[in-house]
Amino acid sequence: MSSGDEGLLTLTIKMRVSPEPGSGQELTNLMRRYREALNYAIEVVIENKALSLGRAHKLLYSVLKERYGLPSKIAQDCYRKAITVAKSWLRNPKRGKIPKVKTLKLWLTQGQSYRVKDCCIELSGGFKLEITGWDRRYDSYPNREARLVYRNGEFFLMITKQIPKPSKYTPKGVLAMDVNKKEIVFGNGVVRERRETAIERALHYKKLAEKLQQKYSSARYNAWRRRKGILRRIGHFHRKACNIIEDWAKKVSREIAELAKRHQYAVAREDLSYRKLSFWIDWQCEKLGVPIIPVEPKHTSSICSSCSSRLKGNGYRRLKCPRCGLEEDRDRVAVLNIERRALGLLNLSGGSLTAPTAPQMTDVTPNRCGEPNRPSGRGGGQLLPRFHISRNWFEERMWFYVSKPLYHIIVGWGTCSQLI
Ligand SMILES: [Zn+2]
Repeated sequence: MSSGDEGLLTLTIKMRVSPEPGSGQELTNLMRRYREALNYAIEVVIENKALSLGRAHKLLYSVLKERYGLPSKIAQDCYRKAITVAKSWLRNPKRGKIPKVKTLKLWLTQGQSYRVKDCCIELSGGFKLEITGWDRRYDSYPNREARLVYRNGEFFLMITKQIPKPSKYTPKGVLAMDVNKKEIVFGNGVVRERRETAIERALHYKKLAEKLQQKYSSARYNAWRRRKGILRRIGHFHRKACNIIEDWAKKVSREIAELAKRHQYAVAREDLSYRKLSFWIDWQCEKLGVPIIPVEPKHTSSICSSCSSRLKGNGYRRLKCPRCGLEEDRDRVAVLNIERRALGLLNLSGGSLTAPTAPQMTDVTPNRCGEPNRPSGRGGGQLLPRFHISRNWFEERMWFYVSKPLYHIIVGWGTCSQLI
């Protein structure tokens, strides 16, 4: 998802592709040469500050073609990518060593170095790849830049597309949600739903990774970083944990957004430290035109949702109001309070139930790192949500999952595509 175009959602369509029989080896060879060429080009661009296409072309084009044997269009994409990498490196005040590309990836320009024809991808240099797995729902939107990726013996093409954002309806009510380590609870005065989170499951793999890491980082194994196999296994466990969280967040977010849409509710959520989840909630809502209302998280599970008195503990995760007698579990109280706050915010914005409280898409730029835009100004400061960076349980342990920048929404096929 990008923040550049306000009315558009950017998505990446992931396709499984397979080269014509007998040409796979040749293609991976090209990708290896491309990787070397790109690393060379990055150095040259940085050393010479050749950040314009013209200068980079002069310095690199013929070398990339002749020394590295890249087809001309791919050579152009190569120095174009090198400029992008160099720019972002130069922009970083804390830059370390010159960046080096390690994965096997080709960055491609639509109509230049690649085109989609029927069920095939044509690469410049005469390669043809058959599309074997494809989510066709977005076929009618034009293809933009793409990446060809080679991983674990398979080729994937990731094509970027932009789709228009649907406009948001005027909500008839609010669907509130609250998350704890075990469960995500959502509902309102009428709806009561809860689902298990995937955190336990993800933690299992995270722990496996940490165990390995610990074992091999002891003094006796101080060379563990060089042991490729161990590193690979650690990476595998980390990725597995990350994927579990990601899949769960996508799926539950879609369910919530769809439920909200069916009843024409807005979705109210706290400023979650569960960033992956809030990312997906916002994204699914944007995609379906569901208004989103971020709500101040303070005290949502300590005051009574019907009379605002301070609640007292009443057994495991249960709360009771000493004044009006309301008795509920913690999460349900939080949901009701969030619903109430959201309704308050809606009414405060001058009777219009949509505009100022619905966050813009810029709220969910991937690199925001916990600094969501807040609707500003209106409605009296006391009700406007503030963002707390609390070093709570989740943040400490889950930082790994959320610190990985998520640049695009990936639409896959099969089970994955159904999650979006
Ligand atoms: Zn009460």
